Amino acid sequence: MGKESIVVFGAHSDDFVIGSGATIAKYSKEGTPVTSIVFSYGEKSHPWLKEAVIKKMRAHEAIEASTILGCKTYIHNLREMNFIEDYKTNNIEEKIIKLLTKVKPTKIFTHSPEDPHPDHKAVYTITMALIQKLSWKPEVYIYSIWNPVSFKTDYPVLYVNVSKTFSLKLRALKTFRSQRFHAIYPLLILVFKRAFVSGIKIRKKFAERFYRIQ
Ligand SMILES: [Zn+2]
Repeated sequence: MGKESIVVFGAHSDDFVIGSGATIAKYSKEGTPVTSIVFSYGEKSHPWLKEAVIKKMRAHEAIEASTILGCKTYIHNLREMNFIEDYKTNNIEEKIIKLLTKVKPTKIFTHSPEDPHPDHKAVYTITMALIQKLSWKPEVYIYSIWNPVSFKTDYPVLYVNVSKTFSLKLRALKTFRSQRFHAIYPLLILVFKRAFVSGIKIRKKFAERFYRIQ
C-alpha cells in the first residue's frame, strides 16, 4: 500500500465536520491529505433566508471549516431530497471519479445506510456505487450524524483518538453560523457527548467512532 489519502463524503455542507471533523484534523496534522466532497449546500434547511444567500453562506462556512481542519473541500450543487436524480446530471459522477482517481484515497468515510435522512442515505448509495468503479479498493467507513450508527452487526469498529484535535472540530462547527440558532448548539452537545463516550472506550480523552463496512 502506498501513501495514505483520505476522502470524506457528506450530503450537506456541515456533515463532514459533524461526522469526522476531528479525525480529518488528526490525519491532516500527520501529513495525510484529506479531501472532502459535499453534495449539497443544504439551502432548504433554513427557515427564512433566500436560497442563493444560503448557498453563498454555506460555501463560505464549509471552506472556513475546511481551513481549520486542514482538508480540501469540493461542493456540488444537488438539490436536497433530489440527490439520486440530480447526481445523474451535469457529469457529477464523472467529476467525482476524476477527483478520486487523482487523490487515490486509501480510506473513504461516508454516511451510514441506517441514517434516516434521505440525503444521507442517498450519499451512502452514491458512495458504494462510485467505489465499484474505482480500479483499487479503498477501505470504507461510515459515520453518524444525528442518529448513532446502531449496527447490530459484526462490522469492525474503528476508534480514532482525537484528543488533540477535538477542539478543532468544535471550532470548525462554530463556523456554521447560518444555522447556529436552530441546529448547531444542540449538535455541539451531542458531538461532545459522543466523543467523550467513545474516548472512554479507548481510555483517551476524546475519540471518534466509525464502522468499517468494506
Ligand atoms: Zn446532512
